[in-house]
Amino acid sequence: MHTTIAIIGSGPAGFTAALYASRANLGVTIFEGVQPGGQLTITTEVENYPGFEHGIMGPELMEVFRKQAHRFGAVSRYETITSVDMSKRPFTLVNERGDVTTADAVIIATGATAKLLGAPGEGEYMGYGVSACATCDGFFFRGQRVFVIGGGDTAMEEANYLTRFAESVTIVHRREEFRASKIMLDRARNNPKISFLLNSTVDEYVGTTNEAGMRKLTHLRVRNTVTGAITDVEADGAFVAIGHQPNTRLFDGVIDMDDVGYIRTVGKSTHTNVPGVFACGDAQDSVYRQAITAAGSGCMAAIDAERWLESQHA
Ligand code: NDP
Repeated sequence: MHTTIAIIGSGPAGFTAALYASRANLGVTIFEGVQPGGQLTITTEVENYPGFEHGIMGPELMEVFRKQAHRFGAVSRYETITSVDMSKRPFTLVNERGDVTTADAVIIATGATAKLLGAPGEGEYMGYGVSACATCDGFFFRGQRVFVIGGGDTAMEEANYLTRFAESVTIVHRREEFRASKIMLDRARNNPKISFLLNSTVDEYVGTTNEAGMRKLTHLRVRNTVTGAITDVEADGAFVAIGHQPNTRLFDGVIDMDDVGYIRTVGKSTHTNVPGVFACGDAQDSVYRQAITAAGSGCMAAIDAERWLESQHA
């Protein structure tokens, strides 16, 4: 099969790229990947996506994105691309079954994955007290006791942000030294709402389920990494802030990336080092990582791809 533009990834970046490219009358195929709809499908309510005055559930928002892109002719394939050949044009994409698609241009919108502890209860209470994004979910913890797990800049930033809403914020970090920069650490240390639980790690997330089937986190089972002592601490919220991993392994050695794996784009554009291959969303953004910024960069990628395709025919 051949498509004019192949979009790999189906979060806000991928679907916005699909919407713009299909409205430009280009043939668009979206490879939805392992998590159709992307990271928002594992959140509950989204209140910071402009245009939804009263908020919207993450999975519902992504369904609207999908339908809007499909309305203009973009086609979704519920497949995962497992290998690519970008050394010659048209580009070649191969899915998990070995089916081959060729494309004149490729937009990479594979996103990033928040690293998680993998402790028992983490998946069960994700969206019900456990979160990996303070900007997304902090608002729901007004007047509550929240914990932030991690000792890097993200943990410090999220802890500071959460003090706007929470009654108390405790940073749980597995050792006494911090990876965070001094300025961010000092800011957290000087914030009267923030306290530290050091040499500590979360072994389990514990909670309850009410009669209506609603889950709620109530405790963290914390282990002292020096003594091994286990303590249950009451917690309304737990924010895992131990870093993100961009989903870009597929492009190793082909597309330029930084040390962590974020794709490098040229200047303010979405062009990568390979002409005809564009990158948008969290796969190339280690700084903002918001649905709205991902959507914005998806629009940029579609416009860049459209202009590049035009230049090839000129
Ligand atoms: P980092 O990799 O810097 O820090 C991750 C933290 O999580 C470390 O403290 C690490 O502990 C801890 N950790 C990792 N795995 C586990 C685990 N399994 N269990 C418990 N703890 C764990 O990631 P960040 O997301 O904090 O930062 C990424 C980059 O983004 C950095 O370069 C940072 O400077 C930058 N950034 C900058 C900001 C700013 O300037 N405003 C804001 C946010 C990020 P340990 O130290 O023991 O390994």
